[in-house]
Amino acid sequence: MMNMASLLEVENLKVHFAIKRGLLSRTVGRVFAVDGVSFDLAEGETLGLVGESGCGKTTTGLGVLGMIEATGGSITYKGEEITRTTPKKRRHLCREMQMIFQDPYSSLNPRLTVEQILADPMQIHGLYPGKARAERVAFLLEKVGLSPDYGKRFPHEFSGGQRQRVGIARALTLNPCLIVGDEPVSALDVSIQAQIINLLIDLQEEFGLSYILIAHDLAVVEHLCDRVAVMYLGRVVESGTYKDVYGAPKHPYTQALLSAVPVPEPKQRKQRMILQGDVPSPIHPPSGCHFHPRCPRRMDHCHTAIPTLQEVAAGHAVRCFLYE
Ligand code: SF4
Repeated sequence: MMNMASLLEVENLKVHFAIKRGLLSRTVGRVFAVDGVSFDLAEGETLGLVGESGCGKTTTGLGVLGMIEATGGSITYKGEEITRTTPKKRRHLCREMQMIFQDPYSSLNPRLTVEQILADPMQIHGLYPGKARAERVAFLLEKVGLSPDYGKRFPHEFSGGQRQRVGIARALTLNPCLIVGDEPVSALDVSIQAQIINLLIDLQEEFGLSYILIAHDLAVVEHLCDRVAVMYLGRVVESGTYKDVYGAPKHPYTQALLSAVPVPEPKQRKQRMILQGDVPSPIHPPSGCHFHPRCPRRMDHCHTAIPTLQEVAAGHAVRCFLYE
């Protein structure tokens, strides 16, 4: 049941891709990219979706935005089920939900000026006609810390940080409520990362935005998120408030990820837990607990039985037999 302030509720979301081979395109297998992910997001809130590459974070974000079709589960936005909606409704949802991409260079059309890049979505959706469109472009450039004069320039004339500012301005053109940021700062220098993070915080306050921020580096989203969901091989393995997950991580996977985050105070440094091997293939995920081949605390039944996401404290849930 959604509370009044809920914006988005994702319930048991599944995105599976069929692997087809041969002349008859027979299905020979499935990629279990997202396999039963649930979370919700309140208005003005930031949720961090974290985990290593290949955990299904980006596919989850694309599934929420309707850019990839869900195989199962449900997505409810502002109280309305939108998982399988009409093209007309989906077009309207484009205005409300936007994405910021990891690589600001490849996500901006190199043949268009920044002015054209920002005006295009308004033209497609018939918003801000005539003079209002140019005013809106200038307004957005100022909001992301760029001079309106930069509108005449092309993406290659900007630095990485400036290009990401353009990417953020483009995400804001249609007045969205929800922005999914797919590794929005990971391609930038560390000094620029802080500037972009501060910009995202300022814009959230000013426009009341809700964010889903996808990141493999937990340190990046540390200061941005109200709540965090840690994903492993298509499933959420731990979720809770920022304080719960960063302050008292329960799942061995979260503990290992956090032990790798650098801390400024050497005395507070935790013992580093080295994760053995890579994330297994989502085509043949391990049986039982998906994490068992890499888990330093695995027990006999972890190989065969599947743990469920259980609350260990109010709002703090963990998928691990150590807490069942
Ligand atoms: Fe490790 Fe078992 Fe917990 Fe999985 S269920 S994280 S294998 S202890």
